Amino acid sequence: MKTKASSSKTAPQKLIYLNGQLVPEKEAKISVFDHGLLYGDGVFEGIRAYKGRVFRLREHMQRLYHSARAITLDVKMPMEELEQKVLDTLRANKLRDAYVRLVVTRGTGDLGLDPRKCRKPTVFIIANEITLYPESCYKNGLEVITASTRRNSPQALSPNVKSLNYLNNILAKIEANLGGVPEAILLNLEGYIAECTGDNIFYIRGRNLYTPPIAAGALPGITRECVLKLGADLGLSPEEKLFTSYDLYVADEVFLTGTAAEVIPVVKLDSRVIGSGKPGPLTQKLIRAFRDLTSREGVPITPA
Ligand code: PMP
Repeated sequence: MKTKASSSKTAPQKLIYLNGQLVPEKEAKISVFDHGLLYGDGVFEGIRAYKGRVFRLREHMQRLYHSARAITLDVKMPMEELEQKVLDTLRANKLRDAYVRLVVTRGTGDLGLDPRKCRKPTVFIIANEITLYPESCYKNGLEVITASTRRNSPQALSPNVKSLNYLNNILAKIEANLGGVPEAILLNLEGYIAECTGDNIFYIRGRNLYTPPIAAGALPGITRECVLKLGADLGLSPEEKLFTSYDLYVADEVFLTGTAAEVIPVVKLDSRVIGSGKPGPLTQKLIRAFRDLTSREGVPITPA
């Protein structure tokens, strides 16, 4: 997923929400002593706005606040207020279709890792245009690989926490880059499929729709949750279960889900053709159903 930086000299600078103020991009600076930077001590969300409405805003805020609570990070702002800041940032940038990155770090401390030295959190919100996978990827499907990098153990850090520690995922992304493919699948320490570097994973066999449980090392994706419901609405039987590469190799259809990627088909895994080698009919139905959902539901950016 790419977002555009305000590169042109004439283009107006993006306004970034930073600790209570909307400031031009160039002035949006944080301390080198911020523990988000020094230790990855913080949490974040990636949120989408479609046609002037923010999709599943409350769900994203709840995940953020749960992530923060799990690491004893006090956001020091009620959830409803931060939700308004997200809407303010979109409004200030006159954005209707956008990707929003909401970040809360432990804040500025000293060089030790003790979070008690960080007296207040750093909160920032970036709202930007989004450049997605090209439409051809949705029509033709993606090729992915299985990374040799394993997903962090869920027993060491709960996959429920969407923390600023993405090095594990980045190492897998590097493997994807080296392999010339856009995404990589991470296995957990037991060898079961967990998720991709920035997306959840599903497969379809017959009328069954499978995705790994959170305990396998999958982020509780908000798109994943929508797709489990949409799948049931389409008459599929959704199930969270542990599975291995074998199940994907012999699946009828495989696809990924995420806020940025939405629902995107996978047609090749580890150089093997999946199913017919083309996006499957049920995946295509789910893509349409998800697009329909995002165009219908969401919190209006402009108050009604
Ligand atoms: N897994 C990981 C590791 C992620 O970072 C994300 C979000 N980019 C997802 C899955 C998908 O979650 P969501 O549908 O909430 O965006």
